Amino acid sequence: MLDNTSTKSLEDFMSFVQLRSAGQKEFHQAVSEVASDVLPWIRNKSEYRDARVLERLTEPDRALSFRVCWYDDDGELHINRGYRVQLTNAIGPYKGGLRFHPSVNESVLKFLAFEQAFKNSLTGLPLGSAKGGSDFDPKNRSNAEIMRFCQSFMSELYRHIGPDTDIPAGDIGVGAREIGYLYGQYKRIRNECVGVLTGKGLEYGGSALRSEATGYGVVHFTQCLLKHHGLALDGLTVAISGSGNVALHAAEKAVEMGAKVITLSDSGGYVLDPDGMSPEKLAWVTALKTDRRGRISEYVEEFNGEYHAGQSPWRVNCDIAMPCATQNEIDNDDAIQLIKNGCRVVAEGSNMPTGKDAIQSFIDAGVLFAPAKAANAGGVAMSGLEMSQNAQKRSWSDDELAQCLESIMLEIHDRCVEYATRTEDGRVNYRYGANVAGFKKVADAMLSFGVC
Ligand code: NDP
Repeated sequence: MLDNTSTKSLEDFMSFVQLRSAGQKEFHQAVSEVASDVLPWIRNKSEYRDARVLERLTEPDRALSFRVCWYDDDGELHINRGYRVQLTNAIGPYKGGLRFHPSVNESVLKFLAFEQAFKNSLTGLPLGSAKGGSDFDPKNRSNAEIMRFCQSFMSELYRHIGPDTDIPAGDIGVGAREIGYLYGQYKRIRNECVGVLTGKGLEYGGSALRSEATGYGVVHFTQCLLKHHGLALDGLTVAISGSGNVALHAAEKAVEMGAKVITLSDSGGYVLDPDGMSPEKLAWVTALKTDRRGRISEYVEEFNGEYHAGQSPWRVNCDIAMPCATQNEIDNDDAIQLIKNGCRVVAEGSNMPTGKDAIQSFIDAGVLFAPAKAANAGGVAMSGLEMSQNAQKRSWSDDELAQCLESIMLEIHDRCVEYATRTEDGRVNYRYGANVAGFKKVADAMLSFGVC
């Protein structure tokens, strides 16, 4: 039995969390970032404090792990570990992506599920929180190998999910191809055509704009933030990391809105194109990454520019940085360099890309910082709309969905602003606003249920 730590310092609170999740450093980082804003906010609110709501949220409803066996094309047997962390269904069924990457472990998935709780709350939709995946590495695997892995993974996962229970989607390493194989296996086992996954193909129950929504949403949120501070995106220079789903759609929308996108990256390094990336260049990268599954270094063989192996793009001059690859991509040195190089806005497309010190450096320097749980919530919001369409057994039009996405991102922006603190010159602290606004709805729902 541990004392009620909500009345105590962040250090005491984190000791409680660390004791119960030893060695889970990504999870500790995510909890600490939220707690540093939420603990002061609940200090004089005994209803949340006495019910120990924040502590309860650091203990998932359940965390499942399971064996996934599959054969490669040479007939060799492989054994991976699959996971599903169901964090909370306080405001709706569990919802969150699946990640296939060798770095996946319980700590990474608990951090992602924890973040997802606040993000899903901010969308205003009835979505609980979960995350899952496997330490399987899809790189250099044939389609047949990916299919066998996905089928084996779903052969266990299917018992824990359902359209009103838990609805996974994609994430790193899980795109349209993987969702197709996963859904096919679910359908085969259950003999049901239901909205149990989002990010499905348009031919079998998917939603228009789902694949674009996270990246587009990041840019819509950035526009709202700029407008709120009397600025505009048109003509600004944007550095983006990653070249996957989120990065490429963010780049596409930013260019459409008149910004100049000068970088993209992958795990090998980054490309700098000082002329800016046109829609045609971005279409070429999309084909490179989705059809040929090639490396970003090939960009400079096709177009002008420089390739910097083994580096991330945070040393370039830019107005806006959009990290869209993975967690912890911007450390404090990168933050200091970005500030020196004139960066005025950081909008997080990936989850927890910025270290805690780096976030503080940005905020202290007056850089407008859009945290992932607000800025990249467009993807899960569109997943929520895919679930609604599946339940209604109809499809909404592209235009209808595009408008929904824009208005949801504006609502998320305004929810952050409502709870945010401000500097003397009126700059909004979006990190604080997102943490508190995201927490409040989940916490109120939990209070309604009593102790459980
Ligand atoms: P993808 O798998 O489509 O792309 C990931 C990109 O990031 C690739 O370019 C990949 O390069 C790069 N990358 C991955 N790991 C590393 C690493 N350790 N170092 C450097 N680069 C890396 O994933 P998504 O675009 O879907 O996801 C990107 C981020 O956005 C993740 O943080 C995810 O959680 C978040 N997100 C995604 C959503 C979605 O709808 N897809 C929704 C909300 C958030 P390489 O190919 O070389 O590995």
